Amino acid sequence: MVYGGKEFVKDVLFSSWQGQIIDNRGKESKDFASVDQVALQEYFKPGEEIKAMMGWGGIIICSAEVNILDLCRVYIEAISDHTKTCDKCNYCNTGFKEILEVFRDLTNGEAREDDPEFLQTAAKTIIGYSKCSIGREGPVPLLHALKYFSEDFSRAIRERSQVAAGRYYSKLTAPCMDACPIHLDIPRYIERIKEAKFADSLEVIREDLPLPGVVGRVCYHPCEDHCLRANADEPIAIRLLKRFVADQELSSRKQPAYPIISSETTGKVAIVGAGPAGLTCAYHLARKGHPVTVFEKQPVAGGMMAVGIPEYRLPQDIVQAEIEAIKKLGGEIKTSLEIGRDITTEQLRKEGYQYIFISIGAHECKKLGIEGEDLKGVDSGLDFLKEVRSGKKNTLGKRIAVIGGGNVAIDAVRTARRLGAEEAFIIYRRSREEMPAHPDEIKDCEAEGIHIQTLTNPKRIIGENGKVKAIECLEVTLGEPDASGRPHPIPVEGSEFLMEVDGVISALGQESDWACLGPECVCTLSEWGTLKVNPFTMQTDDPTLFAGGDAVLGPQSLIEATAMGKKAAFTIDGLLNGSPLEAGNDDYFDQLFKTVKIYDPNETVKVSEPRDRKPVTKLPSETRKSSFEEVEKGFSSPEAVAESERCLRCYRVVTVAV
Ligand SMILES: Cc1cc2nc3c(=O)[nH]c(=O)nc-3n(C[C@H](O)[C@H](O)[C@H](O)COP(=O)(O)OP(=O)(O)OC[C@H]3O[C@@H](n4cnc5c(N)ncnc54)[C@H](O)[C@@H]3O)c2cc1C
Ligand code: SF4
Repeated sequence: MVYGGKEFVKDVLFSSWQGQIIDNRGKESKDFASVDQVALQEYFKPGEEIKAMMGWGGIIICSAEVNILDLCRVYIEAISDHTKTCDKCNYCNTGFKEILEVFRDLTNGEAREDDPEFLQTAAKTIIGYSKCSIGREGPVPLLHALKYFSEDFSRAIRERSQVAAGRYYSKLTAPCMDACPIHLDIPRYIERIKEAKFADSLEVIREDLPLPGVVGRVCYHPCEDHCLRANADEPIAIRLLKRFVADQELSSRKQPAYPIISSETTGKVAIVGAGPAGLTCAYHLARKGHPVTVFEKQPVAGGMMAVGIPEYRLPQDIVQAEIEAIKKLGGEIKTSLEIGRDITTEQLRKEGYQYIFISIGAHECKKLGIEGEDLKGVDSGLDFLKEVRSGKKNTLGKRIAVIGGGNVAIDAVRTARRLGAEEAFIIYRRSREEMPAHPDEIKDCEAEGIHIQTLTNPKRIIGENGKVKAIECLEVTLGEPDASGRPHPIPVEGSEFLMEVDGVISALGQESDWACLGPECVCTLSEWGTLKVNPFTMQTDDPTLFAGGDAVLGPQSLIEATAMGKKAAFTIDGLLNGSPLEAGNDDYFDQLFKTVKIYDPNETVKVSEPRDRKPVTKLPSETRKSSFEEVEKGFSSPEAVAESERCLRCYRVVTVAV
């Protein structure tokens, strides 16, 4: 398995990573063989050089200071911490406990002659009998240690001396968990579904995420793109399983139970914007007992979940039920109050809010910048969707052109179709492959018979009596990649052609309106007009101001917004309780896993029984054209349980010596 053939940045004394054995021990550094299986960074965190790493892929030793037995001890300790809470396979549970005892003896000067043999047998038994990757892969580096470091074991038995404990960091993750921006414990919540413990599964999700019903419907599911099961057949339907447990609670009319573990010191926090970032921040702060108030300029809370994403993908009762639960927890939400207009940040500070989290999203639509843009019948995508959501717009002309290739364009064109446009189509300047919209969205759009006119650029909008009548376009060819990494669209001179239309919707992206920031705010904007933050703490250049979501990333996704809201809540809670403002170990592991990939699309995965992913029912295309009814139906209980049984529980533990 090759991880992109990236160069190893450190000299390595020994590596067994992914089966490639490099043994430079006893060689001069000029004769060192290099490792091409993984790119390991120099430092784990500032000032802490990586001396060794042990994990599912094997062992990497970079420094002669590392004691392999101590490294094994800590690694097995980290695995045992997990297996204690798992309790699925007896061999795994008791086996790792026994292995740990042996390593404690080996490093305590109490080694016995038969320890290596015992370790070998125990490791092989766990590998042979375990149901998940912790058991099947976890002991692998141990076997490598026994094979390639046998002299270290013999010395420990001979000399029976105590080993000085080194400094280590360990982490449990899984390919899907690592890819999820908020790092939901996906294997754990799926396991609960397998056991038909649906409420428990939801509880696992809510440890991080307060919007399971929403995210279970419209998340772009980066987890599924990194699901190891896909290497054998198809990825687990992780998103739909999340939706399933959320829907179970809603249909049973049960009230969600949230344990509140109040922090020692609490403080007043203001949140600007009740979108997924702000609501998640409020949720985590409220769970820690902080009095938190969310200020929202719209009459309804939810951000894009309430005003942008259309009903046929995200029913409003789901959004509002999850917001109600956050309110019950203690998060106060004040709607129809715009910060910067109705109240200033300075007033908030005077009212005793110690910290402010800015999560205003990106709601200002970018202009087309062409003639005719101000004609009647030309709308911007987001404003159009907002008007439909609020019931202000319910009719359109017959032929509607939507300009853009992103998710807003797709939602706008599908909405236009549902409002009665006989022909609603997309105009996009690059080819279908370059469309930034999620592939699932494009598929659904095409399934509704919507035409996507690619390689076409609008030149001007033509009107009659002040109202749009036609759009003049140019054909486009694609040139070399531009700054966005995509081929540069080059309009073909003289290729102008006219399309008669009754309306034009432009969906070229959105940016944030920074009128909310008072003159006393000393934060800085990036060259893209987003707020600059420390990515580990979410703090802006103003020490009392934090920010997250689209306001920081530009238009992105719900799950990224929630991840930033959670991170900010933890930083603010830490500050209120005297913790230093710094990146956490999890942040450093996130960095490490950018090069030490947890998911490898080329990894061979064997499954005992190939089983395709459960298909989900959708409304027939014909019905969809005229209805705002939710398109995608959820799983039934038997379907959800059957799908959860496909999960391989790919937990992986990594220990880093520094
Ligand atoms: C049409 C559309 C479809 C999308 N579909 C998906 C999808 O399927 N999946 C997905 O993952 N993502 C999707 N997204 C993106 C996703 O909705 C956003 O990335 C996400 O909502 C960002 O969350 P946020 O909390 O940062 O901002 P928002 O959700 O935009 O919330 C910001 C809130 O702040 C409020 N606000 C702004 N200024 C002020 C102020 N001065 N005072 C008080 N309140 C203020 C706004 O009214 C808004 O309610 C979609 C976006 C759009 C527009
Ligand atoms: S099979 Fe299960 S644990 Fe493994 S990556 Fe997929 S969802 Fe995660």
